[in-house]
Amino acid sequence: KTMKTKVIRDNCIACGNCNAICPDIYDYDEDGIAYCHIDNNEMTEEIDEEFRSLVLDAYKNCPTEAIIVED
Ligand code: SF4
Repeated sequence: KTMKTKVIRDNCIACGNCNAICPDIYDYDEDGIAYCHIDNNEMTEEIDEEFRSLVLDAYKNCPTEAIIVED
């Protein structure tokens, strides 16, 4: 089973939730717009098992549904 994620940056309102919940996967640029930093938001890298539940938490807690999770 593989999981990948990215942020639809046009939909991100820089609330900070995803980075607060899972900083190992989500970072943000100087404008606060988030991205998946393990693969520069290109959805090429598999999420390690240990982070998968946190990625799902971030996904559920994004107020604008800007986070995509492919599982
Ligand atoms: Fe952007 Fe959503 Fe992350 Fe908030 S939770 S910083 S809106 S991607």
